[in-house]
Amino acid sequence: MKLWYDAREILIGGQWRRTSDTLPVENPSTGTEMAQIARGTATDIDEAVAAAQSALHGAWGKTTAAERGRLLMRIGQMVAERADELAAIEAADVGKPLKQARADALALARYMEFYGGAADKVMGETIPYLNGYTVYTLREPHGVTGHIIPWNYPMQIIGRSVGAALAMGNACVLKPAEEACLTALAFARIAQEAGLPEGALNVVPGLGEEAGAALSAHPGINHISFTGSVHVGTLIQAAAARNVVPVTLELGGKSPQLVFNDADLDAALPFLVNAGIQNAGQTCSASSRILVERARYDEVITRMAERYKALQVGPADADLDVGPLISARQKEIVQGFIERGTDLEMAAQGRIVDQAPAGGHYVAPTLFGGVSAGHALAQQEIFGPVQVVIPFDDEGEAVQIANGTEFGLVASVWSRDGGRQMRMARALRAGQVFLNNYGAGGGVELPFGGIGKSGHGREKGFEALYGFSTLKTVAAHHG
Ligand code: ADP
Repeated sequence: MKLWYDAREILIGGQWRRTSDTLPVENPSTGTEMAQIARGTATDIDEAVAAAQSALHGAWGKTTAAERGRLLMRIGQMVAERADELAAIEAADVGKPLKQARADALALARYMEFYGGAADKVMGETIPYLNGYTVYTLREPHGVTGHIIPWNYPMQIIGRSVGAALAMGNACVLKPAEEACLTALAFARIAQEAGLPEGALNVVPGLGEEAGAALSAHPGINHISFTGSVHVGTLIQAAAARNVVPVTLELGGKSPQLVFNDADLDAALPFLVNAGIQNAGQTCSASSRILVERARYDEVITRMAERYKALQVGPADADLDVGPLISARQKEIVQGFIERGTDLEMAAQGRIVDQAPAGGHYVAPTLFGGVSAGHALAQQEIFGPVQVVIPFDDEGEAVQIANGTEFGLVASVWSRDGGRQMRMARALRAGQVFLNNYGAGGGVELPFGGIGKSGHGREKGFEALYGFSTLKTVAAHHG
């Protein structure tokens, strides 16, 4: 793939420069090397943090909220204009079908627009207090924010974390994932072209245990946001704890959709399947568990199986339903899970098309039926195109199963009964609950995050602006 920039360069203090070592980037659709990226070191992270600190004392720190808003909107517009180009890069780098990659590029643009519009609307309060006092609050940036992001949705996650952090006036150090960081680099070039002052955004790709660990343990950062695995999330929280730095963690899930007897199945079906196979199931908020009231169980599994049989899996540029997994390792993990389902009823599988290159990391989407709630496939995050269907007998059991994993990111309820919708919305342990839909189209406006091992803190929406700022109370005694 031909890139319009040098992917081996990192961005520190407005300057692009090479590192001594590089890492290969694989195209997951073919298994071949498509580029080289920088292998950032702890020293590069030191310099990036120092550059971010200088930015806070320089031009970036002097921007008004309105100026930051205009700048973010300009970046968003430029991202939207280049959506096709960014989509082609992302499709090749992550392996996601082109139309999904394009949706990600447009979501990145929309995040910039949303946070651009919100930047000058974050206000403090005046607080009634003792006679002779005037008390008010100020929302201030944390300072330097670290952003460690995964490979599954680089553009969307940059949008929701870096976008909100910049809107509040923080200076960011971004460590994109070693498996897919090409659009992070492209985004930084666009932001620079749009006029983002030097040091406001620094980008250092590299290995998690090198550049990522150095960033999360750095005493010069004031907040860290991480999206990725539970294991790495705990490492990051522990590293941040040593510096008493606040963290936002988004760590995935085992999100259920609950289908009740009175559900509109025609409306539900596309969501039941798409929420499991989108981005080849490599989605934190993937719906990997479908809970069905027993009377509709046969119908649901039969109709889901029909859809599965029609799913086509192939290279990202063929723009089919499902692309490859990110790596050979991820493919091995997901196939391992499928093999652990030999005691289950395999209801259906999708088809890997003939033109799929042999070196690509393809896995046929797989639907399992008759699964018990405690089965490993119903408990562990698979991060691949695998869904399990679990029957239940009543509302109580549905809630018990839905809440019966260590995660709590997203849940949805399919039912026409308004009372039940309200009861379920309260009973389900999840950061987002959808009634008669799943994902609400991804809305950048909607606060997102988990409970339990899905993490803590909220990104997206206006709420994220509170997470990326700190509150100061000013009490004036004037008699
Ligand atoms: P996945 O399992 O989806 O690859 P990871 O949690 O391993 O997700 O990776 C998500 C991000 O965390 C990537 O940017 C990766 O480089 C980074 N990372 C991995 N290990 C560490 C670590 N020990 N410290 C900090 N960051 C890490």
